[in-house]
Amino acid sequence: EGRVNTSLKDRQTECPPPEPDSLMDGDVTFQLFINNQFQDAVSGRTFPTINPATGEIICQVSEADQVDVDKAVKAARDAFRLGSPWRRMDASHRGLLLNRLADAIERDAAYLAELETLDNGKPYAVSYSVDVPNVVKCLRYYGGWADKWEGKTIPIDGDFFCYTRHEPIGVCGQIIPWNFPLLMLAWKLGPALATGNTVVVKVAEQTPLTALYIASLIREVGFPEGVVNILPGMGPSAGAAIAKHMDVDKVAFTGSTEVGHLIQQASGSSNLKKVTLELGGKSPNIILSDANLEDAVEQSHFALFFNQGQCCCAGSRTFVQAKIYDEFVERSVERARRRVVGDPFDMKTEQGPQVDQEQFNKILGYISSGKREGAKLMCGGGVAADRGYFIQPTVFGDVQDNMTIAREEIFGPVMQILKFDSLEEVVTRANDTKYGLAAAVFTKDIDKAHYVSQGLRAGTVWINCYDVFGAQAPFGGYKASGNGRELGEYGLDNYTEVKTVTTKVPQKNS
Ligand code: NAP
Ligand code: MG
Repeated sequence: EGRVNTSLKDRQTECPPPEPDSLMDGDVTFQLFINNQFQDAVSGRTFPTINPATGEIICQVSEADQVDVDKAVKAARDAFRLGSPWRRMDASHRGLLLNRLADAIERDAAYLAELETLDNGKPYAVSYSVDVPNVVKCLRYYGGWADKWEGKTIPIDGDFFCYTRHEPIGVCGQIIPWNFPLLMLAWKLGPALATGNTVVVKVAEQTPLTALYIASLIREVGFPEGVVNILPGMGPSAGAAIAKHMDVDKVAFTGSTEVGHLIQQASGSSNLKKVTLELGGKSPNIILSDANLEDAVEQSHFALFFNQGQCCCAGSRTFVQAKIYDEFVERSVERARRRVVGDPFDMKTEQGPQVDQEQFNKILGYISSGKREGAKLMCGGGVAADRGYFIQPTVFGDVQDNMTIAREEIFGPVMQILKFDSLEEVVTRANDTKYGLAAAVFTKDIDKAHYVSQGLRAGTVWINCYDVFGAQAPFGGYKASGNGRELGEYGLDNYTEVKTVTTKVPQKNS
């Protein structure tokens, strides 16, 4: 049995104080979840998952590779067979199961939030008040859709009756990253299960724990065997095995653009499985001189620093109009200096550690490149603690478009502030990137807001706000930021095959 310490399970869900010390009591082994059973990897191999606040090992987790992927895909295929309990289940009941899963997550919210913080490093207050509630909302939202995803009747020419059915695609591989382990799981499970698919999820090697706890809840609330299979493992082995599997009908991936290319290629060289991708970004956040400065500074700080800067849609190119540039930089530096970095279980902490040594090194490398290429380091720039992967909130001024820190995704607490003069200029410069995930504009002028938001080539544009998400609103990228949309009604399309059924009738009547 893959177990977590259940002694904390029946907590009150009213913002309880965290108890990280007792979180992993007991001899815990986390295992693969296949066919509603926790099991070792066929190879018997395990890998350690690490607490990024200390660098210490939390526990060992079973490591799936290709053989285990084969087992999980077989389980998912079997759960999808003609006449299976899952295929025969009423759509409304699929919705009910998603709602029950949401209820169980809500019941165990504090425990899940603690586990997420332990494994990922994000502040517990954020895990508890942002990540977990949005997971619950996402699952409930898609639970509601399960019996409302309707086809059409179509007036085609001739004596025929024509309608469409929205059918599940089949076995879906889902590969998720470590920056929002629970939330990315919910974004994947919600639409896939609402529409009747079965899934094999590979969770990120850095953050496998919460998904395995969710696995126990999936079994508890009564999903049939094989509908959801969850595999911790490595990208190049387990992830790649899913991407090239001949019996996987679709793969949904969230992560780096680099791996996104590999996923698409693996589909092309295997069975042409459908591919949706949610990849990186270098999102422009544009501050016009008429904006409410205090608010724009705070929102831009949030846009970049939220989640330790580890957001695909981070506002990582802050374009500020010349007239207010100096004051904006000064206030942003002052705000970054005030950012509370430290123990993620401390309720006052705004910023925890980066997720692992690799990201930590990568971010410090980008800070060096910023200095080397002539950007002006206004604050931060160094390591923030003597253990764990903490980085000081860092602000660069005088950033030029061609600098590495203005072109590449840093995925850390490093803000780039650029200067612009005219609207046309800033829209052109904002679009001069291979990415197109998100963007924002701050202004009080509605004409300017619409001019800029319509000119930006990005899947999401926020006006006078940032990182506002709802399960109801689609999210996804233009250009190299991805294919397809997640969330909202649009999110259902990517898990649906449309079947056109045409039948001869004796005589059509209008
Ligand atoms: P990544 O490698 O793209 O990781 C995302 C997921 O893909 C993980 O589950 C990963 O497994 C898996 N994966 C890796 N190689 C694979 C392969 N060859 N085939 C199939 N799956 C594979 O991202 P990362 O290395 O963790 O982070 C690198 C950069 O990606 C970050 O610095 C950031 O710029 C970007 N990133 C973007 C997002 C986003 O939300 N769009 C999220 C995370 C990272 P492993 O866990 O074993 O690596
Ligand atoms: Mg990785």
